[in-house]
Amino acid sequence: MIKKIDHIGVAVKSIAEAARLYESLGLKISETEEVESQKVRVAFLPTGDSEVELLESTDPEGPIAKFIAARGEGIQHIAFRVDNIETALATLKDAGIRLIDEKPRPGAGGARIAFLHPKETFGTLIELCEREE
Ligand code: ZN
Repeated sequence: MIKKIDHIGVAVKSIAEAARLYESLGLKISETEEVESQKVRVAFLPTGDSEVELLESTDPEGPIAKFIAARGEGIQHIAFRVDNIETALATLKDAGIRLIDEKPRPGAGGARIAFLHPKETFGTLIELCEREE
């Protein structure tokens, strides 16, 4: 079902500040985007076959602001690339795995994404991500 790690989502207070570190490591922001439904601004930094996704909240009540308040800045989720997100979600549902999203929703960069329920994933939020190659 899983093709690779698509990206690792990192919650930060400021993309501009965090980007200085990642740029020192030789990474470059390829695109930034605001995802209104998630109250978040994202920046993608390609690294090899995967990307780092920096996530900055645009609203103090948004999920990323709440994550940082509870756990501090840091890795917020791992996103696995799948070929067909509907098939992947149906397979998980059949296996009795709880999902946050039973249907895919639009993500940054034109992707279709869905999250597994964090109670099922041993403390690491898992996102499935389907995108056109
Ligand atoms: Zn993500």
